[in-house]
Amino acid sequence: MEDCIFCKIINKEIKAATVYEDKHTYAFLDIRPASEKGGHTLVMPKKHYELITDIPDEEIKHLSLTLKKISSALLKFSQGLNILQNNKKIAGQYIKHIHFHLIPRFENDNITIEKWKANEYKNGEIEKIQNKIKLLF
Ligand code: AMP
Ligand code: ZN
Repeated sequence: MEDCIFCKIINKEIKAATVYEDKHTYAFLDIRPASEKGGHTLVMPKKHYELITDIPDEEIKHLSLTLKKISSALLKFSQGLNILQNNKKIAGQYIKHIHFHLIPRFENDNITIEKWKANEYKNGEIEKIQNKIKLLF
């Protein structure tokens, strides 16, 4: 993708702090890290896809393995780990090359991961939503 900053990083046209690379996947440090102590790693497929649903099945298998590999590394020096992935603008996706945010966590790290206000289901709503989702597979 011509105008994609992450494609440019993957193609080494723009510099980034790369931490892992293989045939299918790429990982580098987010330039604006959530964690002062542990940084914040972005993991993605080398090929440009926008949403999680755009990635072919074979490709997402490689991505899952890389996510696990990098999570193992991060958990060797952190106390915990958040994995986040935003799909579409309304969900906070700013760069349209799918990527996972891996954020190492430490005691008193002062990181606020976006927290939703927990709602309650109105009468019958949980079954309605359950049945709606089940019909969409
Ligand atoms: P998202 O909001 O999920 O699309 O996340 C985009 C992330 O990319 C943000 O956390 C940015 O800080 C990060 N980012 C943007 N440009 C760069 C860059 N050149 N190198 C590293 N990370 C970047
Ligand atoms: Zn791209």
